[in-house]
Amino acid sequence: MKKLKTVLIALMVVFILAGLYLASNREKEFSATQFLLDTTCSLTFYGDESREATEAVFEEIGRIENLMSMYKETSDVYRINTSKAGEEISVSPDTYEVLETAQEIAKESGGAFDITVAPLTTLWNFTAETPKVPTEEEIKECLNFVGYENIILKDGKVIKTKDEVRIDLGGIAKGYAGDRAKEVAERFNLTGGIIDLGGNIICFGENPKSEYKIWRVGIQVPFSPTGTYEKTIDIKYGAVVTSGNYQRYFEKGGEIYHHIIDPKTGYPHKADYDSVTVAMESSLIADCLATAVFVTGDEELLEKYQGEVYFEKAFKE
Ligand code: AMP
Ligand code: MG
Repeated sequence: MKKLKTVLIALMVVFILAGLYLASNREKEFSATQFLLDTTCSLTFYGDESREATEAVFEEIGRIENLMSMYKETSDVYRINTSKAGEEISVSPDTYEVLETAQEIAKESGGAFDITVAPLTTLWNFTAETPKVPTEEEIKECLNFVGYENIILKDGKVIKTKDEVRIDLGGIAKGYAGDRAKEVAERFNLTGGIIDLGGNIICFGENPKSEYKIWRVGIQVPFSPTGTYEKTIDIKYGAVVTSGNYQRYFEKGGEIYHHIIDPKTGYPHKADYDSVTVAMESSLIADCLATAVFVTGDEELLEKYQGEVYFEKAFKE
């Protein structure tokens, strides 16, 4: 009888310990969402310091937003946009790195990726409550100030060639933030994590919920409810970035006007696909290339930067 009691107590202890172990393991997963960089940013981290890492990563994304926002008067971008031609504007090393990459991809893509589209994105104002299609004259006027060669980079400083030139880092800042977010997260004791900056996905470490510890990223079906996937990409590490017309657009007279502008024409680029997804290690480069390839439709750049590209279309009705 005494023996049975001892066995029962031992079993109970084992069950309690197992329960505590599972509970503590579950606690090691931490997810949170914040609205930063003009988009919904969601983090899911696994490991002992998942909570602390989340806090630090949001802080880092906020720091980048403060440098690269077009609207915050203290940002590097605001100071560049309000500067006069020939004035030398000192910027943070973060902004300088983003500008160097933007200029490199602008050259490589023959100007399809071009941060000086700002006068056009402001004119089109896709997020306005009652957006309108600009006139041809208005677009022509803006095109006088569009062209990446109007931005000169020299020893950490930025110089414009014309007063009216302005930059918009909407096609690259999230990409940069993704790489920095991963770098900050990796300073903590984590086993893995997934960073989602409005559809820019960055993964690192192991996925505890997968048999092979890999991450499976779905490619959003354009114009379908968020989370509708037909294709998935399995990766261990790196970024999956999508540029899509469905992400920001308005409709007028049966026509869709979306936020990815062809810098040559000043109009949203019309294509027979609705999104371009780029998968590669660098989220910064992937972000530039997804936007560039949306405009050119040309996959060649992906070979040079060693990435993969996927074109998606909306479901046919
Ligand atoms: P993404 O979602 O990365 O393709 O970026 C689109 C955003 O980048 C737009 O909302 C604009 O702010 C900006 N943008 C639009 N057209 C271009 C372009 N051709 N090159 C660079 N940035 C662009
Ligand atoms: Mg982009």
